[in-house]
Amino acid sequence: MPAKQAVQKRKHFSQVSVRCQTYFCTMSSLIGVDLKKAAALLRAGELVAIPTETVYGLAANALLEDAVLKIYQVKNRPQFNPLILHFANYQQLQACGLELPPMALLLAAKFSPGPLTYVIPTSAEIPGIVSAGTPAVAVRFPNHPFTLELLQQLDFPVAAPSANPSGYVSPTSAAHVASQLGNSISYILDGGDCAIGVESTIISFLEEQPRLLRHGGIPVEAIEAVIGPVNLPGDGFVDNPIAPGMLARHYATRHPLQIGNLEELVKQALTRHSPSEIATISFTEPVSGIPATNQFILSPSGDLSEAARRLFAALRLADEMTVSLILAAVFPEEGLGRAINDRLKRASAPAPASIPPSH
Ligand code: AMP
Ligand code: MG
Repeated sequence: MPAKQAVQKRKHFSQVSVRCQTYFCTMSSLIGVDLKKAAALLRAGELVAIPTETVYGLAANALLEDAVLKIYQVKNRPQFNPLILHFANYQQLQACGLELPPMALLLAAKFSPGPLTYVIPTSAEIPGIVSAGTPAVAVRFPNHPFTLELLQQLDFPVAAPSANPSGYVSPTSAAHVASQLGNSISYILDGGDCAIGVESTIISFLEEQPRLLRHGGIPVEAIEAVIGPVNLPGDGFVDNPIAPGMLARHYATRHPLQIGNLEELVKQALTRHSPSEIATISFTEPVSGIPATNQFILSPSGDLSEAARRLFAALRLADEMTVSLILAAVFPEEGLGRAINDRLKRASAPAPASIPPSH
């Protein structure tokens, strides 16, 4: 790895860890590793942020309507946007009157627990607020040791969307959650930095042919290797309220973000801005004309998993800089690159006043 990139990489990681230490010192009762406390709060209908391998989730007892309502309020999330139910194991899912169809079971044998969410018919036990009043519910088995242990201690599933205000970049550390939701939640269970770093892949089993609703932590290639071809987002599919993940604007930074050919974007931007007003997100290489301190190189070794893991932290750091815009490269459209491109495209979409931001 060239020396400049190595310094850059170290700098980003140390920035993140300094922030974590600050929160540990000043918010010690808010952030911790006390599973019993987290379980007690959830039983009492309070919100707890939980670590998962994808991003941090904002969890509530899914069987208590009032607790689930708090998720929507704290996130300022539109109530038409349904939530994912999280279970420790298949027995817990069955105890809620739910079943995975045979093809989903094939996938579960390989990818659960893990970053794969199954959309299936809901049951009478699941409150309508979880599935936004639709007859389908999204379910997942998260793969994080703390959260699996926590879920095993509970006799209800938790509903948990990403633990960020609706519309903003998802959190991949406890410090990210504390910085935005610290005042409105009871506890953040700290499980370290998220290992995958982008949300779960969502696949629907409501039609004859499985349909991918969102690219995420399990690449579509890996899914097709198990169950054959699946319909992709957009394949003859009209945007509708049961798939709000398909709304254009999600994961947005406050600074405007553009995605495209990075060299070209930088060239154009330099006609209107000074180099220090621009931050860049690239895959393996720095871009010329921009100060090294403003550049986020997600994986100098060309590893898309590493790039996905570092994406949201880089977007947050770029957003905290005093720049006027963020320019991002298009990543290879394969494996986790699809999820990275999806998040960057949604982050760059304009927010029409008529459409509320989703997350
Ligand atoms: P989050 O947990 O923040 O990643 O958001 C959950 C995402 O899951 C939503 O944006 C929806 O796109 C998707 N989802 C949840 N429940 C359903 C459902 N019943 N049908 C279709 N998509 C769903
Ligand atoms: Mg989200």
